[in-house]
Amino acid sequence: MPMRIKPLISIAIILIIISSVSFTEASELTIRVLIYQGKEFSISGNSLEVSIKNGEQLFIKNSDRVDGRVNSSRLSIKIIEGDKLNELSLDTSSTIDITGENISVNGNNYRGSLRVIYRSNSVIIVNILPLEEYLYGVVPSEVPYYWSKEALKAQAVLARTFALKNIRNTPGKDYDLDDSQNSQVYRGKSGEYNETNEAVDLTRGEVVLYNNSLASVYFHSTCGGHTELPENVWKVEKFPYLNGVECGYCNDSPWTNWEITVKRDAWEKTMGNGEIDIEYDGSGRILRLNGIDGTRMRSVFNLPSTLIIGIEVEEKDVLIKGKGLGHGVGVCQWGMKKMAELGFSYRDIISYYLPGVTVDAYRGF
Ligand SMILES: [Zn+2]
Repeated sequence: MPMRIKPLISIAIILIIISSVSFTEASELTIRVLIYQGKEFSISGNSLEVSIKNGEQLFIKNSDRVDGRVNSSRLSIKIIEGDKLNELSLDTSSTIDITGENISVNGNNYRGSLRVIYRSNSVIIVNILPLEEYLYGVVPSEVPYYWSKEALKAQAVLARTFALKNIRNTPGKDYDLDDSQNSQVYRGKSGEYNETNEAVDLTRGEVVLYNNSLASVYFHSTCGGHTELPENVWKVEKFPYLNGVECGYCNDSPWTNWEITVKRDAWEKTMGNGEIDIEYDGSGRILRLNGIDGTRMRSVFNLPSTLIIGIEVEEKDVLIKGKGLGHGVGVCQWGMKKMAELGFSYRDIISYYLPGVTVDAYRGF
């Protein structure tokens, strides 16, 4: 005879299941950051434990140094253990996991552990560490460590949100983010300061949310007076909290006003020699000039921004006058600095540039 669970018991079971579902807090997550790509590396540290997977597994304890070099489709490895030297030659698709203390890669110090992956005639090194410790190495690379505390806290929350968005977007890859401006700049332990570590700790686990989901956060150095819509820069979707705001706070930036001179020949090669015809967007930036996208013009002539207020064509040169530095989308970092000095909290600053968002603990959305 089949067993039947009484309704009360089944309700109790459901309640137990619901109460046992725990959220993943941001502070519990680890992140994998690409920190090196090339053919030659040197890793040093104290009491390194080296685990090599190359068909079979090899484990070497108490090493001081692991040097590697790719030649003739092999990865030659030297593992130095006091005065003992282990030399190995590995096939492509081998991996080396390294843990230990005071780990340094090519002279730069890192927290957490390393994974060296040898594939397609080149090596990548991935630093694996808790998200919060990764942020210690990001915040001072994005803004100066001596800025006001609320500005550093705002940057910590933005960097955490950006990282989590990217962790979610990279299933099946060897790493979640790289350490360059393609993601956000990360310099490991070598780049850390007490002030920025404290800003990370004071905002532990907090992220920018919109309708209970992670917001798409962007930031840039100096907006020059008005922030930009993302769809004008990257042709991406619109976000209600990225509608562009007026910013009267970034006038202390060295990039408030700038002038760039380009050779007239080079200018005409890209922009033509006809009369200048400009289409502006709502933030005052150049959307198109003589039919060329403002973003393309910015990259060809290496301009600080597309917020251009004057173009003077001279006999041999073209003088371009503009305002601001960066794409202009989202939070203006020099504006954030000033708002913090004026007494605004990190939450006020984030809500000013991203109206409608909230700052709250990440619960694994
Ligand atoms: Zn600004």
